[in-house]
Amino acid sequence: MNAKTQKLVHADKKYIWHPFTQMLDWLEADPVIIESGDGFYLIDTEGNRYIDGVSSLWCNVHGHRVPKIDQAIRNQLDKISHSTLLGLGQTKSIELAEKLIKILPQGLEKVFYSDAGATSVEIAIKMAYQYYRNRGEKSKKKFIALTESYHGDTIGSVSVGGIQTFHRIFGELLFQAEFAPSPHQYRFDGDDDQCRQFSLDKIEEILRNQSENIAAVIAEPLVQGAAGIIVHPAGFLAGLRELTRKYGVLLIADEVATGFGRTGKMFACQHEDVSPDIICLAKGITGGYLPLAATITTTEIFDSFLGEISEMKTFFHGHTYTGNALACAAAIANLELFEENKVIESLPPKIRLIDEYLKRIENLPNVGNVRQKGLMAGIEIVKDKITRESFSYEKTIGAKLCSAMRLKGAMMRPLSDVIVLMPPVAIDLTTLKNLLDIVVETIENDLPEIIKNA
Ligand code: PMP
Repeated sequence: MNAKTQKLVHADKKYIWHPFTQMLDWLEADPVIIESGDGFYLIDTEGNRYIDGVSSLWCNVHGHRVPKIDQAIRNQLDKISHSTLLGLGQTKSIELAEKLIKILPQGLEKVFYSDAGATSVEIAIKMAYQYYRNRGEKSKKKFIALTESYHGDTIGSVSVGGIQTFHRIFGELLFQAEFAPSPHQYRFDGDDDQCRQFSLDKIEEILRNQSENIAAVIAEPLVQGAAGIIVHPAGFLAGLRELTRKYGVLLIADEVATGFGRTGKMFACQHEDVSPDIICLAKGITGGYLPLAATITTTEIFDSFLGEISEMKTFFHGHTYTGNALACAAAIANLELFEENKVIESLPPKIRLIDEYLKRIENLPNVGNVRQKGLMAGIEIVKDKITRESFSYEKTIGAKLCSAMRLKGAMMRPLSDVIVLMPPVAIDLTTLKNLLDIVVETIENDLPEIIKNA
């Protein structure tokens, strides 16, 4: 470790509390400190280069230090970095909203900005709740969510979250939501069709019994990312849309992780021609550059908030940095790059390459299941391939495997024992192949030793 790294590590350990990190482990470890980026690589203070295998937590799209996005931010710096959207307009937020509406599923027409995935979900929840209050339907105030879903870490988004490891501790602080089983085929006794139908039937049962009390169903369309890249059986989302229409409740699609090309189309909803009532966007919206989020809804929902001041229909929600101009400028450049570089059109060979590798990986010892939708993939490591029994949480097999990959030049982060593969959407085939080679090689050669020593 060079002197500069030593100094930084010392100061980091002294001053910083890292998210989702057991700090006792951190304090005992030799952490990597990232100093710069170069295309699809991260570079640490020792000069080591790592392929950004999880897109800097699922948000990077075109790589790091992308000239066009860098320039867009610089240009905006010369104008203004931030001014509030509370009672004021701002050029970049308008330009971005117009661009978003053009590419989103039809019917989504009103953009409410914020700055994180979790806030975009909080806003969706409050919007749906107040929509029914504005209409005088005061009993419609509950939400249906899927087990193992993840919508962010604020109290509202945790209330509709179903990942017990993260959420159990905060149980008493949460509002009550109804949970229906996630269609998770690997953990379901039956085929894809039965798995999809089982979940839809459970949701219908809740709706049949209490639709007059339900405001909305919230779901991550197609892929439940944080649950371990659970890929829903085809038709589940369309089924959800049908049910929500049939029983007169709203559908909130949380595309925070799936949006902006991750699943092979611009938005996951487009795979099943679904237009939700509310969509949540964040992460990739700025190409992974700056914190920005958007909750976009229909004119019908928007119109229900119109009224005299005295009617108290105003949406009383906002954040200081809502619609930040630098972030909006980055987001506009991000969307332009999607078009100029034909990013979506270039995805099929990359998706096929991942699929080919996953087929090989699936046959390796202790690989229980591989799951993929577009450029989102999960490799689940299990103790027993036949019974599908997992390793105990404390053994941290996934984390150890990712540490071994890091030593070979791939920056990865697991979800328990699911190795997540989520490269930047615009990654080139050669870098993607290098990343996949590291992943397969580590599972093949290092995993047996990791298991033996765990
Ligand atoms: N929703 C989904 C589906 C997510 O995957 C995430 C983050 N992983 C969030 C919401 C929360 O986003 P943020 O971390 O920006 O608050």
